[in-house]
Amino acid sequence: MSTNHELFQRALQLMPGGVNSPVRAFKSVGGEPFFTARADGAYLWDVEDTRYIDYVGSWGPMIVGHNHPRVREAVERAVRDGLSFGTPSPAEVTMAETITRLVPSVEMVRMVNSGTEATMSAIRLARGATGRDKIVKFEGCYHGHGDSFLVKAGSGALTFGVPTSPGVPKAAADLTLTLPYNDLAAAKTLFAKHGAEIAGLIIEPVAGNMNCIPPKDGYLQGLRDLCTRHGAVLIFDEVMTGFRVSLGGAQAHYGVVPDLTTFGKVIGGGMPVGAYGGRRELMEQVAPSGPIYQAGTLSGNPVAMAAGLAMLELVQAPGFHDALGARTRLLCDGLQAVADGEGVPLSTNRVGGMFGLFFTSEKVQSYAQATAADTALFNRFFHGMLKRGVYLAPSAFEAGFLSSAHSEQDIADTLEAARGALREARQH
Ligand code: PMP
Repeated sequence: MSTNHELFQRALQLMPGGVNSPVRAFKSVGGEPFFTARADGAYLWDVEDTRYIDYVGSWGPMIVGHNHPRVREAVERAVRDGLSFGTPSPAEVTMAETITRLVPSVEMVRMVNSGTEATMSAIRLARGATGRDKIVKFEGCYHGHGDSFLVKAGSGALTFGVPTSPGVPKAAADLTLTLPYNDLAAAKTLFAKHGAEIAGLIIEPVAGNMNCIPPKDGYLQGLRDLCTRHGAVLIFDEVMTGFRVSLGGAQAHYGVVPDLTTFGKVIGGGMPVGAYGGRRELMEQVAPSGPIYQAGTLSGNPVAMAAGLAMLELVQAPGFHDALGARTRLLCDGLQAVADGEGVPLSTNRVGGMFGLFFTSEKVQSYAQATAADTALFNRFFHGMLKRGVYLAPSAFEAGFLSSAHSEQDIADTLEAARGALREARQH
């Protein structure tokens, strides 16, 4: 059996940075990534059989824990009937019925294969439907790696300090207007100037790619009103928040209705799935019922639909999201108490089963505050936790995720690890 180090050395020769998605490479926290051999419940085991309590959850999908038997069995059943048909299949209809029932603003939906595809398709629709070219996004928000979104982007783009990627044509970047998150006055000013050119505004209704930053009271409604007034399409990117911060996503949690919504992660149960949907009159403009083209050979894949449907079934259990939120609170309050006890400035944010840790004494509500927190301390803390068997996202600019498989004991073990890791990190 290869060790983590051996695998990484081989990988480095063969894949850029040794990985298939940048943040996995541990570049910002330093050191080398571990290679996962298997996962179950709240845990990952690497190839050396070291166990980690996992707060990444495959970056969000594993909301019921890894390798849940109901999801696994649904996939096993589906596989027996074939892997891909390229024709419509019944599970796609059930999936569309489920999504439109759980998220009422979504009257029609189109399945795709990733969050990136969902957001790219949603802005094409916004542009096609309005006949306008400009889109608005927020500094530190990440919507996948489409050209239009890699402008002042969060997640890996922020972690690696290349907020606008080489390779994005200037002509494409010029069509993306950016705004500071949680600053309604700035949005009003922008719309006053450019309102007539704006096809759509896309936002993470709870930002999760500059760490975790919830919207201020009234902020999302303020954006809703601006879009309505100026005829722009409001797109909530619920790739992270969908079916997680509440059963109906952030839009249900905050009571604000977007025109279009994008999904990923939980909706696929761990399979490569995304979706976009929204108002019927908009979605009817998508091919083949309308002229706005978007397609996918594997879209609505029967195995992926089976995994997603099993997952969506599980999150509909009564009290699921309340329990997840309570666990997340237990973790965040516990970490706060540990940090206070150790005299380390820490502030936490959380919404439902999503959380963020910032090494600062301020309540973090903006990109500027998130990037001003002590990331060097975070990096030392990350490694201290990893050494103690707790895996946090390997970047100060990623949200953390809990699952229903995280037990009170797991949280107690995490807090114990945090005490040791903070003592060590602080002494540096
Ligand atoms: N939107 C948001 C809010 C995301 O967090 C992500 C991925 N983390 C994406 C879009 C892109 O999804 P994918 O990685 O599946 O392309």
